Amino acid sequence: MSSLGKGIAAASLGSLLECSGLKITLMKLDPYINVDPGTMNPFQHGEVYVTDDGAETDLDLGHYERFTHARMGKINNVTAGRIYNDVIEKERRGEFLGSTVQVIPHITDEIKSRIRAVSDGVDVVICEIGGTVGDIESLPFLEAIRQFRFDNNPKNVIYVHLTLLPYIKTADELKTKPTQHSVQKLREIGIQPDVLLCRTEQQVSKDIKSKISLFCNLDVDAVVTAMDAKSIYQVPLNLHHEGLSRIILEKLGMSGVQPDLSQWETINKYIEKPEGDVDIAIVGKYVELKESYKSLMEALVHGGVNNRVKVNMKWVSAEDLEKEGGTELLRGCDGILVPGGFGDRGFEGKIKAAGFARENKVPYLGICLGMHSAVVDFARSVAKLEDADSAEFKPDTPHPIIDLMQDQEVNGNKGGTMRLGEYPCQLRKGSIAFAAYGDREINERHRHRYEFNNKYRFQLEEAGMKISGISPSGNLVEIIELADHPWFLAGQFHPEFKSSPMEAHPLFREFISHSLKYRSSR
Ligand code: GLN
Repeated sequence: MSSLGKGIAAASLGSLLECSGLKITLMKLDPYINVDPGTMNPFQHGEVYVTDDGAETDLDLGHYERFTHARMGKINNVTAGRIYNDVIEKERRGEFLGSTVQVIPHITDEIKSRIRAVSDGVDVVICEIGGTVGDIESLPFLEAIRQFRFDNNPKNVIYVHLTLLPYIKTADELKTKPTQHSVQKLREIGIQPDVLLCRTEQQVSKDIKSKISLFCNLDVDAVVTAMDAKSIYQVPLNLHHEGLSRIILEKLGMSGVQPDLSQWETINKYIEKPEGDVDIAIVGKYVELKESYKSLMEALVHGGVNNRVKVNMKWVSAEDLEKEGGTELLRGCDGILVPGGFGDRGFEGKIKAAGFARENKVPYLGICLGMHSAVVDFARSVAKLEDADSAEFKPDTPHPIIDLMQDQEVNGNKGGTMRLGEYPCQLRKGSIAFAAYGDREINERHRHRYEFNNKYRFQLEEAGMKISGISPSGNLVEIIELADHPWFLAGQFHPEFKSSPMEAHPLFREFISHSLKYRSSR
């Protein structure tokens, strides 16, 4: 079932194999009918993760990139909707030469070809299948991976099944029935799992493992405990200690190989025993639904690990800031972060948050809509452009400081086209952005429609705004800073998508580092 941690389990397995010297990639097969998750409600689906090539994908791809060196793209996230869409298009083009198009073999063939498509140049593809065994939706995917072993050398295919071992408090017992039934369901459709990962909140005794082994028809060694962890970054180490690397490597014919997990050990050292802490306010609309800020939260954790401190995330509702004296909620925080967002609810509150950071010299990191808020605040309060606004929310504003670019407007369809994926940006020497990256040219991922309005560049720069990052053509403003502030930076892109615990993103690393300085200066 969902929330069991399949994504983290797949990512952790990927990392264990990488640490054993293998080149891996991952892919997520999602059983829903949406063609991609780009337009799905974040309340239902969590974050939309954006890849270099501009795919709007499932948030599990974020875990894959954070845990491993595999880079994800459009081809690594395939939904049932995409598969059916492509098969139907082929049928319309007559590619099936008039034969009856069916789930087996046409849909399953398409799924298998998608799996093969990601396998170029890697030793192992880890394929995560979303949904629950027994659901109607996931059947074609499970059937496809059943066939996969049949089509290939059976030794080259391993089935890992993640199940739940619920703990019944009143009986003080772990129950194996859900696991038994789930495995039965899998076997009904012809898949015998090779390894079981049993998600549990209690230690799993040898007896319970033997029972599962007997009922589920697999080696007792292949019943691996996947215990609840305080941090997701403990999972690779935990699974390794429970024997997952050994059993998988054995099945891959690599017995005796010892993964080098020193990186994970260092990361966990600072997660478990931080040398201090820092309070960061995150101002947003979806503060009730933290899942939609997954990568952002992780990037903050990485920034913390890099500075050896724990980041306390204070979720502040942007709408609360709009009330009289609302910005007092931000007092006491060591840094203010306004993340990306869609929709006008709370936008005025985000502008106030940027203004509060500007006036009180609190470190500020603005991401996409967080940059729009910072620019609007500056235009109104410092450059004295009355009623300046983003045309996204106030189309009739006298000063559309944030607007669609002209070529986007010509495109016609509502709101223009989205700028998606990786774009280059050139940094100005001497800026705090340059100090963070230590490089003149950077590449960052985007997901937005509106941009800084070039008509106001001169006026805002005259008033003290520093434009420290621009596109190579000079046409797009990518990063702004404030001249008279220790660390105020806002970017048009999403740095959180490129952060990992091994290598915190430079902007998150520096944001946390300056928030710590601000904390100790008070
Ligand atoms: N809504 C804004 C835009 O479309 C910002 C999007 C974002 O923050 N990712 O331009």
